[in-house]
Amino acid sequence: MGLKHTPIKLAIIGGGAAGMFAAAMAAEKRIPAVLIERKARLGSKVLMTANGRCNFTKDISPEQFLKDIECPEGSQSAKAVSKFLAPSLRAFPPRKIISFFKSLNVPVRRMADARMFPADGKATTIVHAFGDLLRNTETPILTNSPVTEIQPLKNGFIIALKNFTLWAENVLIATGGVSYPKLGSVGDGQKFARALGHKIIPYRPGLIGLETSDPEITRRAGRRYENARAKVISLDGKVLYDYKGEVDCESFGLSGAAIYNSQRFIEHANLKDYSIEVWLDKDRLKFQNLKPRPVKEAIVTIGGVAIDEINPNTMESLIVPGLYFAGEVIDIDGPTGGYNLTLAFATAARSVSSIRF
Ligand SMILES: Cc1cc2nc3c(=O)[nH]c(=O)nc-3n(C[C@H](O)[C@H](O)[C@H](O)COP(=O)(O)OP(=O)(O)OC[C@H]3O[C@@H](n4cnc5c(N)ncnc54)[C@H](O)[C@@H]3O)c2cc1C
Repeated sequence: MGLKHTPIKLAIIGGGAAGMFAAAMAAEKRIPAVLIERKARLGSKVLMTANGRCNFTKDISPEQFLKDIECPEGSQSAKAVSKFLAPSLRAFPPRKIISFFKSLNVPVRRMADARMFPADGKATTIVHAFGDLLRNTETPILTNSPVTEIQPLKNGFIIALKNFTLWAENVLIATGGVSYPKLGSVGDGQKFARALGHKIIPYRPGLIGLETSDPEITRRAGRRYENARAKVISLDGKVLYDYKGEVDCESFGLSGAAIYNSQRFIEHANLKDYSIEVWLDKDRLKFQNLKPRPVKEAIVTIGGVAIDEINPNTMESLIVPGLYFAGEVIDIDGPTGGYNLTLAFATAARSVSSIRF
């Protein structure tokens, strides 16, 4: 009857932080898009952020933000991540993320250290705001819909789901890392990328606790030290990294912001032999080469789709035209404090801005 097959302009795979933001940007730009999520609801991981409070960004300049992503001396990989993210962060800095949520009538709260939260301290407020926007803009959303394969065509892509396929002109892979797999991020996007010819950098945990059975720590399990400090020191006594912040004593060892950021530094610097000095109030404790907890427990995944095969100005694959990436599926990560959601939002915004329409 005159009906013909029409591809959707953009298929966004993954309804997490990056995917929801990308769908919102596509709606704003009137780019026909479909959002596809394997779990029953959107934003399962976002709901868990900051213990359900959602530290959605940090109110600092893009330059400061990029500097914070770089680790000091000895971490070329963190410097490369920062360089890769610069165009996205400059085009969509924290200031714009804050304005975006305000425009969705989400009252926001700025902490003394510039971390930003919804004023009611509820991550559900953020996820509902996305839900309302996508409903109001009649953005098609498929939930309970794991994508199983992406096949490039001459004119777009076939996206395979369990019992049917979709035809899209462009595809944005926003399927997250491999940490907290129960929340949906199981590494599917990296598998699709590999099948399409992309290099995958091996996964390592980012922002995770360090194990020790030192009795000084196990004795204090359950105690939180707000004004603590952690220093990473080389074998020849040089202080490589120094961070003042919270340290928590756990039954397995140490966690908290100062430990998370130190662990991220150790991972990026690929340090094998080091000591870590931890101040808990007036007590100074020193440990050697602590093992991180596994990647599935990490706040962020280091590793993923290699950044040297993605155009940093557009987030488009340098291998397959029309294929885009955003968020943690890419080998990008930041420190704790709102950086990782910001990266997901900024790369999502960059990719959607680049789609020719
Ligand atoms: C406990 C915890 C607390 C955190 N707190 C903070 C914080 O306060 N501030 C901060 O900035 N960052 C925080 N982070 C990190 C932040 O949540 C992530 O970096 C961010 O969610 C990454 O966004 P993303 O969209 O790339 O991935 P995700 O948010 O993980 O979304 C990926 C989505 O893709 C879906 N998906 C996967 N495979 C498929 C498939 N085959 N088909 C369809 N859909 C698929 C998944 O189900 C998921 O919904 C925290 C992380 C954790 C685990």
